[in-house]
Amino acid sequence: MRLALAVIACLTAGSVWAFAPETSLRPVTRGGQETTEPLIRPLVRPATVSPEAPSTVGAIATVTTEISSLAVTTSIRPSRRTNAVIATAQATQQARLRGQVCGDPDIQGEAIGAVDGRGSCGIESAVRLRSVAGITFSERPTIDCPTAKALKTWIQTGLKPAIGSEGGGVAQILVAGHYTCRPRNNQAGARLSEHSFGRAIDIAGFRLQNGERITVLSDWNSRDDGDQLRQMHRAACGPFGTVLGPAADAAHRDHFHFDTARYRSGSYCR
Ligand SMILES: [Zn+2]
Repeated sequence: MRLALAVIACLTAGSVWAFAPETSLRPVTRGGQETTEPLIRPLVRPATVSPEAPSTVGAIATVTTEISSLAVTTSIRPSRRTNAVIATAQATQQARLRGQVCGDPDIQGEAIGAVDGRGSCGIESAVRLRSVAGITFSERPTIDCPTAKALKTWIQTGLKPAIGSEGGGVAQILVAGHYTCRPRNNQAGARLSEHSFGRAIDIAGFRLQNGERITVLSDWNSRDDGDQLRQMHRAACGPFGTVLGPAADAAHRDHFHFDTARYRSGSYCR
């Protein structure tokens, strides 16, 4: 009896083993075209969506939402830029690159090379500025590139923020002095001024877009524009090594003097 049971058990086990692969879950053989097609496909957009405005976002939206009867059938889109518009933009960019000096399209003017002055006066590599960061000059200053770059930094971080949108914004810098071979403060026997090396610019004031003028002489102590002049004067300290204004001495009551001379003690600003 025991033997018989063992034989039955053995046979049963053997038959289970033998049929196991036949009864386990297996992937069903792919049949026909059905499974070769993607499950999610873009749907054909309904006629209410403009065929001129193809958009994947629109296609997805049609799957999950119904289009409101209030929806517009055509959306406003920017029109393609015409070739004329593209050509104008390219010409402007080319002109900007042609007119740049000091390797900066924001600094426009012409390179005039070495300026030879009396004695030790002169500039090794000078530029005559037409505009800096979009701001023009009442008189085109001749300076060197480090000074032109300091001027750009100051225009962007000092001058423009101080003037803001007053009068439509600043348009022009009123130049009181740039390159000239002379001693400091025009005093005979004094050391040569930084102006003698193209490292300085004197600024008397500004013309705004609306034609209004702000000057150091008349507005330094004014209620309207005094704060702005002080703000931009402070902001020059850093980009420039020497910053002088009406608070420095009587010689600077009518202009700011900015130069790029560097001192071991840092910037000198007064
Ligand atoms: Zn000066």
